[in-house]
Amino acid sequence: MEEQKKRIMLTGDRPTGRLHIGHYVGSLRRRVELQNSNAFDECYIMIADTQALTDNSGNVQKVRDNVIEVALDYLAAGLDPNKVTIFVQSRVPELFELTCYYLDLVTLSRLERNPTVKSELQMRQFGESIPAGFLCYPVSQAADITAFDANIVPVGEDQAPMIEQCNEIVHKFNSLYGETLTHANIMLPENEASRRLPGTDGKAKMSKSLGNCIYLSDDEKTVTNQVMSMFTDPTHLRVEDPGHTENNPVFIYLSAFATDEHFKKFLPQYENLDALKAHYERGGLGDVIVKRFLAQVLNDVLTPIRERRKQYEADIPGVYKMLEEGSLKAQAKAHETVMRVRRALGVNYFEDRKLIEKQSKAFKKKLAEEEARKAYLAKKNK
Ligand code: ATP
Ligand code: MG
Repeated sequence: MEEQKKRIMLTGDRPTGRLHIGHYVGSLRRRVELQNSNAFDECYIMIADTQALTDNSGNVQKVRDNVIEVALDYLAAGLDPNKVTIFVQSRVPELFELTCYYLDLVTLSRLERNPTVKSELQMRQFGESIPAGFLCYPVSQAADITAFDANIVPVGEDQAPMIEQCNEIVHKFNSLYGETLTHANIMLPENEASRRLPGTDGKAKMSKSLGNCIYLSDDEKTVTNQVMSMFTDPTHLRVEDPGHTENNPVFIYLSAFATDEHFKKFLPQYENLDALKAHYERGGLGDVIVKRFLAQVLNDVLTPIRERRKQYEADIPGVYKMLEEGSLKAQAKAHETVMRVRRALGVNYFEDRKLIEKQSKAFKKKLAEEEARKAYLAKKNK
């Protein structure tokens, strides 16, 4: 199939808050690089509002308000609507048709086994009242990915079980109904620290829902204050104590963000992160110096992002227009896939001339037989 040879990227975010630096290193930074590398034939970036509603049905205003925030963060980070299609999930209803078909190909127990969903369920404390839509969101994510024939999905580590579940659906569908859907490949950040950036509180993942984030749009002072109050190594009580850099969020953030140029610019007494780490582990290096450096690094990365955001904030109608146009473009692409899927499933009744002809012939034959029988009986009873 011609389309399957293309390199197509799809990824997205839930509009449950502004984007944070975990999103940036986990996926957003990579998207911008891929966009600018021109290595892709098509790039789709989705604001997953329908997915966000699965655990926010009582708080629709939050989702509604954050669509524009996420769009602004995209543009601020450097995504270019001339190169990538940015769209809103609910405005592409084709995705929900695919979701319905795919739901028949997964079992409830498989959905309950998804490790990311399991930990998210625990975090959200739904108890006995788990929304069915939330449990099934990996299926709708499979629809999102396959609708665009995406073969590359740049995401953080928490998304690995989703891509696995997506591919199970792809294989099941293709084996039942013939080769129709495209296999997806996860693209994790090369830098290990970026795959699951911890929260400023030291919790395993920086997450909008946990409130332990540094946002891309936070101002310089907020970022500095957040960094200065960050969790570090609890055993590093005095400056002269040897410290641990592993599982220490400050060093994890530095691994994700600091370049050798940052050392030259802000902390020239160390050549690179390895040299800084070695000193911290030896003892004699205080947290304040390391944190001050991290704040400088983050602000250096975030300054151009903040400035670009301000420019786009001055034209909100233009940003909505961009989302509307992107959604129409995405819908046209998803429609092609839906037509292919309908054909594979045999639910393409109205365009299938052969089916209409075959059924028409069969019923004509049946009617003719009935007429003949009636005529025979009438003659016989005369
Ligand atoms: P929510 O709490 O509403 O689920 P979230 O902060 O987990 O929000 P998502 O919108 O679910 O954000 O995730 C969007 C993308 O960002 C995904 O590719 C995900 O893997 C990535 N991502 C989210 N948090 C992190 C993180 N802390 N480190 C690396 N990548 C992350
Ligand atoms: Mg999430």
